Amino acid sequence: MAFTIRVADTDIAFPCEAGTTILEAARLAGYEMPYSCLRGACASCRGLVRSGEVETPYPEDLYILFCQTRPRSDLEIVPREIRRIDPGAKSTIDAKVLRVTEAADDVRIVQLRFPPGVRVKFKAGQYLDVILADGARRSFSMANAPQQSDIAVLHVRVVPGGRFAEEVLPGLAAGGTLRVELPSGDFWLREGDRPVVFVASGTGFAPIKSILEDTFRKGGARQMALYWGARREKDLYLSGLPEKWAAQHANFRYVPVLSEPGAEWAGRTGFVHRAVMEDYPTLAGHAVYACGVSAMVDAARRDFTADRGLAADDFYCDVFVTPADPKT
Ligand SMILES: Cc1cc2nc3c(=O)[nH]c(=O)nc-3n(C[C@H](O)[C@H](O)[C@H](O)COP(=O)(O)OP(=O)(O)OC[C@H]3O[C@@H](n4cnc5c(N)ncnc54)[C@H](O)[C@@H]3O)c2cc1C
Repeated sequence: MAFTIRVADTDIAFPCEAGTTILEAARLAGYEMPYSCLRGACASCRGLVRSGEVETPYPEDLYILFCQTRPRSDLEIVPREIRRIDPGAKSTIDAKVLRVTEAADDVRIVQLRFPPGVRVKFKAGQYLDVILADGARRSFSMANAPQQSDIAVLHVRVVPGGRFAEEVLPGLAAGGTLRVELPSGDFWLREGDRPVVFVASGTGFAPIKSILEDTFRKGGARQMALYWGARREKDLYLSGLPEKWAAQHANFRYVPVLSEPGAEWAGRTGFVHRAVMEDYPTLAGHAVYACGVSAMVDAARRDFTADRGLAADDFYCDVFVTPADPKT
């Protein structure tokens, strides 16, 4: 049985079979709404149901997650954005490995070059999927600015027991190839002049690096701060870079935060999102972009909206989940 989903204030309507999520039904009908993790962790796909009955894991919430919600009747919905899927927007490419460098014990920087003449348009902050031999996928954000459209630079955390980390990464060397599909993702900087707070944990720095390099290149005076959290100082594997940006750009501030610092560390300590809360009595009127492990992103979203007045719509994130984990 199919229900009809209407999108409020547009002439868009599409069918949704019982048991299919609203996000998937939109995709099958040729429409794309914002999404990222597809498992209810990142809330990129949140929106409202204006009328109708739904089956959702969080019935008490005002916003529902379209990736987790199925219709029980015809619906009228209010997504944050909806557009027709452009079938030519994604490319599948056999990229050449230029270099793999060890940035920290458990972080590798993988530089890929696309075949001669191939350039890929992406937005700073988006990610690619590495396609493994059996078709399984692993997502990694582009750390390079989009002006470098013939390469992709990835900051890869070496996850213990990870398929990519243990089966693919050790054998990657200059001259090898990786099949990738790009671009995907909704973690790009919205225009405007509201001050921006970026919060990263670990390799969550990668897409933020791309956004900041792109923003510095374009110029402007928007106030921006980066809080980068890790356990130990050596885990802030490119800390010299944001330190340099802070010295060069009066509108940019950098705050490294360690949760397990050594005795020599004189900087900020504790949870990275807590450091933001110590510095901002209010986040109303700000935009927050958070990226990294779900514990950090969830805590930031919850505490910034509940205790610092951040509007839910002003919180953007990518959550580093993996298809290897069971879906919530
Ligand atoms: C949109 C998006 C962008 C991403 N960008 C990046 C990026 O730029 N850099 C990056 O390092 N990662 C990124 N990730 C996370 C990355 O995709 C996963 O860490 C990846 O799947 C690991 O692949 P693997 O095969 O090595 O491990 P898997 O085989 O996928 O995982 C093995 C086990 O390790 C654990 N695990 C996996 N990843 C993590 C993690 N990040 N933290 C804690 N435990 C984990 C899980 O319990 C899992 O069951 C991104 C994820 C998403 C959704």
